[in-house]
Amino acid sequence: MDFEKLLADRLNKMGASAIREILKVVSQPGMISLAGGIPSPESFPMEIMGKLTSAVLEKYSSNALQYDPTEGFTSLREVLVDYLKRKGIKSTANDILIATGSQGVLDSIGKVLISKGDRVAVEAPTYLGALQAFNSYEPEYVRMDTDDDGLIPQSLEKVLKLGGIKFIYLVPTFQNPTGRTITIERRKEIAVIIKKYNALLVEDDPYSALRYRGENIPPIKTHAPDNVVYVSTLSKVFAPGLRIGFCVAPDLIKKWLVIVKQGVDLHTSTFNQALAAEYLSEGYLERHLPKIIELYRPKQEAMLSALEKYFPEGFTWSKPEGGMFIWAKGPDGIDMEKVYWKSVEKKVAFVPGKYFFTARGEGIETMRLNFTMIDKKAIEKAIKILSEVIKGSRKN
Ligand code: PMP
Repeated sequence: MDFEKLLADRLNKMGASAIREILKVVSQPGMISLAGGIPSPESFPMEIMGKLTSAVLEKYSSNALQYDPTEGFTSLREVLVDYLKRKGIKSTANDILIATGSQGVLDSIGKVLISKGDRVAVEAPTYLGALQAFNSYEPEYVRMDTDDDGLIPQSLEKVLKLGGIKFIYLVPTFQNPTGRTITIERRKEIAVIIKKYNALLVEDDPYSALRYRGENIPPIKTHAPDNVVYVSTLSKVFAPGLRIGFCVAPDLIKKWLVIVKQGVDLHTSTFNQALAAEYLSEGYLERHLPKIIELYRPKQEAMLSALEKYFPEGFTWSKPEGGMFIWAKGPDGIDMEKVYWKSVEKKVAFVPGKYFFTARGEGIETMRLNFTMIDKKAIEKAIKILSEVIKGSRKN
């Protein structure tokens, strides 16, 4: 049977991910991986899970195991109103839609907004998982320029002036892959621009709670509430395996997000939503988040100081105040994929940065480094080895 001919046209845009192929070696024994993009299991609140589970069964009884409305578990949506208020976002429980991870929101957004060939504006580089979610709806990407302070507002305006942009996708705080944060001044400028052009922004914010230094910066949603779908998740502050994401969207968009979600999974796991409601409403998050921050802060400091100590001249890297990633850039001409293959021979892996760009040929000399998954000693060792590999490959 020729299954190939049965496949839908939309799969043409999806394909096997090249990054997945090159990262296959990461699980080899003895590999120190800076390639991951996931929270450390040490960050999970294991010690309270039994208590949370009992509390949920006592409080909600069989309702915690029953089908539930697509919009989300009422107690969770109610407590998220307070959570969002602390970020400066005004909402009611009715404005909030719970999803199966923020990834679930991104896919639904693609389904609701993108017709084949529609133009979506993205940062260069951007979060690969968003591109994967949108790709099934066959958009064209329009790249916007970024620098150390994130998206350059003039680049956004230039793109919007040309017209025909369905929506803009941004990760403004501790971006994946660069760790960069858009400054408050730029956020205000971006808000003015999207209002001026009546544009829709999808603001993806999974990392802002993981702040190790500096002041919180309010989301762009706070400056342009009617133009922004704000997307966030409990994956980095509770447990990613529970798959609890959420969004606050303008009415019409939310209405359609609910309709498409009905077709996908009816609703997100009731039990997991009830656990999340308990985690937030009983103050567990407030008590646990500082522990996650104290777990990651020293790891990030270890990576920044190892980079300072070992990395060769001609390299620069981001110095984020939080998040899970550092982005390093070598001098023009260095091919980080070549460095990658040499470095995995020495048992150190990272992600070559070019995979996070929509345009071919961009970001060849860049790399994404994750610091959440390994301890400080391994971080120092990995950066030292990586530096030696880079120095070695420049001599050849
Ligand atoms: N957006 C960004 C920018 C991410 O980095 C991630 C996770 N890697 C997600 C969304 C998806 O997270 P989740 O589905 O677990 O909420």
